[in-house]
Amino acid sequence: MLQPGQTLGIIGGGQLGRMLAEEARTAGFHTVVFTDEYPPSPAGQVATREINAPYYDPEATADFVSAVDVVTMEFENIPSEFIETVEQRLPVFPAREALYLCQNREREKNFLLKQGLPHAQFLVVDGAESLAAATAKIGGPCMLKTAAFGYDGKGQFRLSGDENMSEIWASFGAPRGVVEQLVDFQCELSVVGARGQDGTYVPFPVCENIHKNQVLDHTISPARVSPEIAVRATEVAKAVAEALDYVGTLGVELFLNQDGDILVNEIAPRPHNSGHHTIDSCSTNQFSQQLRAVADIALGNPRQHTPAVMVNLLGDIWPEDGGNPDWSAVLAHPTAKLHLYGKRTAKPGRKMGHFTVLADTPDEALAEAVKLRKSLGM
Ligand code: AMP
Repeated sequence: MLQPGQTLGIIGGGQLGRMLAEEARTAGFHTVVFTDEYPPSPAGQVATREINAPYYDPEATADFVSAVDVVTMEFENIPSEFIETVEQRLPVFPAREALYLCQNREREKNFLLKQGLPHAQFLVVDGAESLAAATAKIGGPCMLKTAAFGYDGKGQFRLSGDENMSEIWASFGAPRGVVEQLVDFQCELSVVGARGQDGTYVPFPVCENIHKNQVLDHTISPARVSPEIAVRATEVAKAVAEALDYVGTLGVELFLNQDGDILVNEIAPRPHNSGHHTIDSCSTNQFSQQLRAVADIALGNPRQHTPAVMVNLLGDIWPEDGGNPDWSAVLAHPTAKLHLYGKRTAKPGRKMGHFTVLADTPDEALAEAVKLRKSLGM
């Protein structure tokens, strides 16, 4: 078990690493962030120390490994070779195998298929011909997604099936892709849960997620679904965590389709954007659970004490002159909390922060969130 005073290594310098480092600091642990970003990264600003270097830099890697006691990561697109080097010296959670699987949509979909976990029909494609065959076989609208390194809807194309597939393939630009049936969903859900080193799985309540331009816009927790659907969604997420023999906090993105079936969309091997509300609304938050799992401390109580809505703040709402949005309404609201990630420049689409607002019911929290976002011109 990692003891306060010991050091957690975090690979990645983004907001998820920042919120994890904040949690670790509060609990008396040191943190060292390894990032290929320039200093100070969002995580590096609150860590005990940050190392800024490319993943293939042997000296920086040796420095990182000698400075920490256990290693975790805040995003999945880390070269496997880097993790391999680190794990020769130190325990790494989640394991490289889980990370490797979630780094690539083709591997992830095949894993779901092999494990008998529910998912939308898909086919792997590697050229215009197989793309045409796949869209014809699936029939109706579908999504073409890059097999590798996709997140937040990047590298995704919605197809009706009537397009010229040679043209689509030429503009796609990736060597392999996955074609998925377009799910006509009632809503999108997620289950964020943590799994400890002893195999205990502790889920947070199911969340309801609303995306805009394929990026999470806001999360409502708990989700406004029946208890049966919530149980089913949680069972599916638990089955994913177990099949991966996962250790740490895991986000499982789900569709609830028109037949009432739960389908896995994507697996995020890390704390998840839809779990940010847990900082303000739950007894133990998703970053604390990540720390506990990695440090081999018993997982905390995930009880949600108050319904919450979390709204992502993208760079689009920052004024072009380099100033700040007018936070006055959010700051003045008695149950709203503003979280900013310390990113230096705002760009359209960049996740700069979020706010969470609490109320007696999810619908009331949503009504408050709508008012607050209006104050920000959203
Ligand atoms: P992803 O990056 O795969 O999580 O996709 C981002 C978002 O795009 C999802 O949260 C959905 O809103 C939408 N999306 C992706 N794949 C599908 C699909 N097969 N059917 C319907 N919507 C999808």
